[in-house]
Amino acid sequence: MSGVQLRQVTKSYGTTQVIPPLDLDFAEGEFVVIVGPSGCGKSTTLRMIAGLEPVTSGEIAIAGKDVTWAVPKERDIAMVFQSYALYPHMDVAGNMSFALRLAGRPRDEVAERVRVAADMLELTPYLERKPKDLSGGQRQRVAMGRAIVRDAYCFLFDEPLSNLDAKLRSTMRTELAILHKKLDRTMVYVTHDQIEAMTMADRIVIMEAGRVQQVGSPREVYNTPRNTFVAGFMGSPSMNFLTARVTGEGAALRVAGEGFDLPLPARLNDAVQRHGAHEVTLGLRPEHFSIRGSGGTEASEFAPVDLSVTVAEYIGSSQFLAAAIGGEPVTASIEVGPDAAPLTSGAYLFDTSRIYLFDRETGDAIV
Ligand code: ADP
Ligand code: MG
Repeated sequence: MSGVQLRQVTKSYGTTQVIPPLDLDFAEGEFVVIVGPSGCGKSTTLRMIAGLEPVTSGEIAIAGKDVTWAVPKERDIAMVFQSYALYPHMDVAGNMSFALRLAGRPRDEVAERVRVAADMLELTPYLERKPKDLSGGQRQRVAMGRAIVRDAYCFLFDEPLSNLDAKLRSTMRTELAILHKKLDRTMVYVTHDQIEAMTMADRIVIMEAGRVQQVGSPREVYNTPRNTFVAGFMGSPSMNFLTARVTGEGAALRVAGEGFDLPLPARLNDAVQRHGAHEVTLGLRPEHFSIRGSGGTEASEFAPVDLSVTVAEYIGSSQFLAAAIGGEPVTASIEVGPDAAPLTSGAYLFDTSRIYLFDRETGDAIV
């Protein structure tokens, strides 16, 4: 079996289990992003794959080989960390070639691999510079170059963009996605940033407290989150949650609470009847509010909701509203065009085909 597999892997520090039995299966060539809040066990998981941290129990296989107890250099992996840890006294070429020289690779081969990696990362003009004479983004690229020259089976990234400013992060996201296409290697990337996960991943693994909450493509986890944790974590700004009750009967169920009363789409009408739930949590994404019923799809049906608006933030063609529905805080992101006056309290429209319902007790999605 190719790719990377974790089977019932656990990790405990002393008596504290930080990773309960974990199963993961990454296909060869896939770009997987493990995302979750700080402290949920992302780095621990990655370090166990790399062999930098022993597992407490379970098995790890890379490229069809059981590597559970193999040292890092026997695993055919290359890792890039948040701290670039470049050698300050070596130039870019020296930093990139260090591991190959240490491994005693022939000079010509080392030079060629550095040339190819530098070309790919657009570092060719800087090969003779020291790290202190490079920008943050260039340093990050050197750290990646160091990994790329090794042409490993699997690349592991631990929050490599966290030290960069927002604009550079966005550029580097694109570069990483391009790099993945060029290299065609399995990549496992961990981050707390859901935007990085959404933009780069073939598949996303969402973790909370060492447990996998959902695995799926960016579209799947955004469109059909399995529970309130995933729903609240993926998407920006975050989904709004309101305490609600299902009312009505037959094919005309509604979801109502303080300050709102919305018709359920047929899909949810059926799901609620199967599930039998009445006490629910309603999930409304900020981007599904509008003023003119705009931005919908064929399935869209717009229903009115009153928002009492505290602040309207101008962000160009949209406005972010800090608002409330029946006293509960909500945010809304409304497309109005760049010349619109600040939005105020009143009736807005919500695309009811985009309503989410969750079991109020378990937080599981009702689907
Ligand atoms: P993340 O990378 O998702 O932020 P980590 O994998 O670094 O999380 O940590 C997961 C949990 O394991 C945290 O609760 C952290 O405090 C704990 N942990 C990590 N390393 C150690 C260690 N060496 N000793 C004890 N606890 C640790
Ligand atoms: Mg970490």
